[in-house]
Amino acid sequence: MNGATVIRNARHWRTGERLDLAFDRGVILASPRQDEARVIDARGLVLAPGLVDLHVHLREPGQSAKETIERGTRAAAVGGFTAVACMPNTEPVLDSAAWIEWVRARAEAAGYCRVHPIGAVTMGQKGEQLTEFGALKSAGAVALSDDGRPIMSASVMRRALEHARHAGLPIVCHEEDLTLRGDGQMNEGWVATRLGLRGIPAAAESVMARRDVELSALTGGRAHIAHLSCAESLDALRDAHARGILVTGETCPHYWTLTEEAVLGYDPHAKMNPPLRTERDRRAVIDAIRDGTIDCLATDHAPHTEDEKRQPFDQAPFGIVGLETALALTITHLVEPGHISLARALELWTESPRRVFGLPDVRLEAGHPADLVLIDPEAAWTVEPTAFQSKGRNTPFAGQRLVGRALATICDGEITHLDAAIEVGGARPGRREAGLERSGSLATPR
Ligand SMILES: [Zn+2]
Repeated sequence: MNGATVIRNARHWRTGERLDLAFDRGVILASPRQDEARVIDARGLVLAPGLVDLHVHLREPGQSAKETIERGTRAAAVGGFTAVACMPNTEPVLDSAAWIEWVRARAEAAGYCRVHPIGAVTMGQKGEQLTEFGALKSAGAVALSDDGRPIMSASVMRRALEHARHAGLPIVCHEEDLTLRGDGQMNEGWVATRLGLRGIPAAAESVMARRDVELSALTGGRAHIAHLSCAESLDALRDAHARGILVTGETCPHYWTLTEEAVLGYDPHAKMNPPLRTERDRRAVIDAIRDGTIDCLATDHAPHTEDEKRQPFDQAPFGIVGLETALALTITHLVEPGHISLARALELWTESPRRVFGLPDVRLEAGHPADLVLIDPEAAWTVEPTAFQSKGRNTPFAGQRLVGRALATICDGEITHLDAAIEVGGARPGRREAGLERSGSLATPR
């Protein structure tokens, strides 16, 4: 694309001030010029740095029936994301530099947003032998995780945190004591009893969260606790912050919107891990977002095929998709009821995750990358899974009326998502090709 692009009549996500912002070759310019090749009329919509999701399962290599890097990053662009970190529980596991490089190359060729791979902590995610953290980092890994599985051995986790500290990478912890979880299918409690399903106690998560807080304190390694779902784990994170321990934590939209009662009726779309908890836990999640205990938000986007999710509840896999509903679930259930401001909500999806993983800063200032999202916080829409860009349609929010939507997403200066409501004018309009424009340089900037 030759020449600059300008976004006119936008509203700054933090200050609310009216804003014109120009960019060229992927970089924000100091001021709009007169020779813009392309003009986007924002009509007073909110302009923010592109959203970042630290917890996404793109399923490649090996599970492309569930999701592909191309479809997953398309879904990310529609959701307003310009960067995602993808989990290594693929087939094979991302436990070598070669596979980290493979994911990055594939994302660069086919991706609609920046993809930051997360390397495995242990070979094959077996929880025994550590991978080569330095080599994974050199290949582009931004964090390490055995997500999908816990690291059951405390001594392995201790050594992992020690090595991760030297490598300068955080370890993303999937907190689940397998001996407590057993073959549980949903949260332990009255709903499980009534449905005749085996339960997973909240303690399966919280005892491991407590353990990893202590191991982080012991080693000085950085632990990032994934998908926090219950009050006791949030207390562990709160205590860690109070003690100055290098632990951060994330939660996901389903934990502030749904409870275990969504499982009544045996809907496999309400089956995820950690499971949906009680109303008390849901309120604790919202409190932890309000009081700053939660460091950032993430989706745990976990696509499965329709055949897999159509099985009986106890046989269906855990997980739901999240990229295309995250922003709206945040605005509808956190901002609209007044729990947090829109600016704070966007901070939790932009600056906060970048800080947690040490990704390059993106601000609406000259010289920063043109990774941007244009948001209509009042747009009402109905969740229609067949319209998802993701291959996964496994969402418990189908048919729900939500508020808030990304109307345009720009990654590295290229339009990666453009709603029909947005007018693009200028010498090179091309709305048709706009949605298909891709940069050849969406590699992890390191
Ligand atoms: Zn997990």
